Amino acid sequence: MTATNLAAHWMPFTANKGFKEKPRMLSAAKGMYWTTDDQRQVLDMTAGLWCCNAGHAHPHIADAIAHQAKTLDYAPSFGFGHALSFELSERLANLAPGNLNKVFYTNSGSESVETALKMALAYHYAKGNTGKQMFIGREKGYHGVNFGGISVGGLTNNHKAFGQWLPTDRLSHTQDLTLNAFSRGLPLHGGIEKANELEKLIQRHDASRIAAVIIEPITGAGGVLPPPVGYLKRIREICDQHDILLIFDEVITGFGRTGNVFASQTFDVIPDIMTTAKGLTNGAAPMGAVLAGDHIYDVIVEQGGPGVEFFHGYTYSAHPLACAAAMATLDVYEQENLYQRGAAEGEIAQYFERGLHSLKGLPGVIDIRNYSFIAAVEFEPLVGKPGATGSLIQTSAWEQGMMLRSLGDAIAMSPPLIMEKEHVDQTIGILERSIKQHF
Ligand code: PLP
Repeated sequence: MTATNLAAHWMPFTANKGFKEKPRMLSAAKGMYWTTDDQRQVLDMTAGLWCCNAGHAHPHIADAIAHQAKTLDYAPSFGFGHALSFELSERLANLAPGNLNKVFYTNSGSESVETALKMALAYHYAKGNTGKQMFIGREKGYHGVNFGGISVGGLTNNHKAFGQWLPTDRLSHTQDLTLNAFSRGLPLHGGIEKANELEKLIQRHDASRIAAVIIEPITGAGGVLPPPVGYLKRIREICDQHDILLIFDEVITGFGRTGNVFASQTFDVIPDIMTTAKGLTNGAAPMGAVLAGDHIYDVIVEQGGPGVEFFHGYTYSAHPLACAAAMATLDVYEQENLYQRGAAEGEIAQYFERGLHSLKGLPGVIDIRNYSFIAAVEFEPLVGKPGATGSLIQTSAWEQGMMLRSLGDAIAMSPPLIMEKEHVDQTIGILERSIKQHF
């Protein structure tokens, strides 16, 4: 099908005028490749938007959704239930680390973030700590686009026109090109110092006012920044010392991208609340899930009064089609060993890392960083046009048959976990040509 009139669709996070002058249309997808409207095959080095971790159009997932649509198409989840959501919750609780045993469903990463922030407030409220209403986020953090998420996020464009509606302060981001340029895996330097900034923020605001710290274990949309060694553990310690909850936003790092189901397991730090979405259904149906620790549920629900304990939920929470997609997705991740495949020390991840770092020394390349199946290449900003190079490289790559994500002066990659060496070779070739075209 070819669209003939593009005027009516106001596209999200898109330069609408530019797109409509020069559309980039996708008509099908399979495995590692998209098919475009003009029948080109385009290598997907982004897993869509970090979501199709098992590759595209997996038959097991597609069949599960089709079957569910014919069996129970919808079920309200306020006061009613259906078996699949309970089965899925038990499965997720078993996959999650520590006591993250309670699962609350949403439809997106943004909704998962709002839900997690509200859980943190509800937890402290229920304990009588009503002063704990403020959040600590991080510069360059991305937590979706709803009002809570943009308040705790740290990307200026995402909140400058919309205000900041939650009381928030921010840690500095962890990027340091002087200390850690061209890092492979976790950057080695500065982790503890960066994490100790949290103590300064606590001194500034007082722990009695701070509900939670929210961070992505690996900053994604803010530029792909793996945490420096020791950083996450130190943040956890400081939170524990001050009765501040730790929320990990695992919307992109969840479901195999770091070699375990969750990055929390890879980095051996367990948060109180974890947000997920995207890879949960392999992108095949909109769904998010918030995993809360038993201690959070106990305070809000078990020790709560009669009636509804948490005044929150969505019409499509635990949607049967999404539950079916998630169950089938988890089958595929397990059956195809995709969690193990994503491991940083695995053969493909190592091959990808070596390929990427072979680009060091090309003109304009000022940094390359990666952790298993997440990577970024950063370029020198063009004079008078900061933030433009990522999109130039993205366009060149698209024209040569590869999809990348552009993030200001960097491009990001988050390939499906089924990537093979031949895809890495194709990627490095296209990247090299694209870089040489522009610098
Ligand atoms: N949190 C993180 C870390 C994300 O990367 C994203 C999306 O990229 C979100 C939240 C928002 O997810 P969604 O676009 O599904 O609302």
